[in-house]
Amino acid sequence: MIELRTPAQIEQMKPAGEFVASVITRLAEVAAVGMNLLELDEIAHAMIRERGAESCYIDYHPSFGASPFGKVLCTSVNDAVLHGLPHDYVLQDGDLLSVDFAASVDGWVSDSALSIVVGTPRDEDLRLIEVTGQALIAGINAATVGNRIGDISAAIAGVARDAGLLINTQFGGHGVGRTMHGDPHIPNDGRPGRGYKLKAGLVIAIEPWFLHTTDQIFTDPDGWTLRSADHSRGAHMEHTIAITDDGPYVLTARG
Ligand code: MG
Repeated sequence: MIELRTPAQIEQMKPAGEFVASVITRLAEVAAVGMNLLELDEIAHAMIRERGAESCYIDYHPSFGASPFGKVLCTSVNDAVLHGLPHDYVLQDGDLLSVDFAASVDGWVSDSALSIVVGTPRDEDLRLIEVTGQALIAGINAATVGNRIGDISAAIAGVARDAGLLINTQFGGHGVGRTMHGDPHIPNDGRPGRGYKLKAGLVIAIEPWFLHTTDQIFTDPDGWTLRSADHSRGAHMEHTIAITDDGPYVLTARG
């Protein structure tokens, strides 16, 4: 069921967006060569406790997960692109790291993801991150009243195709509200003018993710982490936005 939020409710959702943005910003600042992924998770966990927020991940146990997630942060490194379960892994020079974080503040959820390179970047990784970010912006710009879900999907896919990337539609954007995942689903590929007509008050996460040379993924033996079939690297960028009569409002915008 698709739920619409009143302008007052969207105001109430802003602290969650600001908090999630602050965690992503902090993680991007501290992530560096030599840092353990478990330390990043602990930093996010400490910020949750300090803020009195609630993790959306720690007890998360959907049909595709082997067991409850158990951490508050997804850390996907190199050929891992989504749902990366933080492990005892120390970041190496040139690693492509994607962090994905969702939390609830005052009963409202926000969800955001960012890819960065730690240490010396490879040009191709910077380009993949850049294109994924451009796809996110294109998707956000298409999230206007009167457009349809297919317009967001087509905008994302257009950027990816122009860059020669393949698109996997198994995982994509979603409604956000009291819980992390709601209707509608927002695939990262689709046809303009198709699907649900966007209305003011719809709050959604838009989350393009792409791999260098494949659209195929497999689940790591940890039961969560999704890796590319050919071990090429991936990038993932996500914001939670509210569709308003004045255009899309990015709840998880980073200062
Ligand atoms: Mg997310």
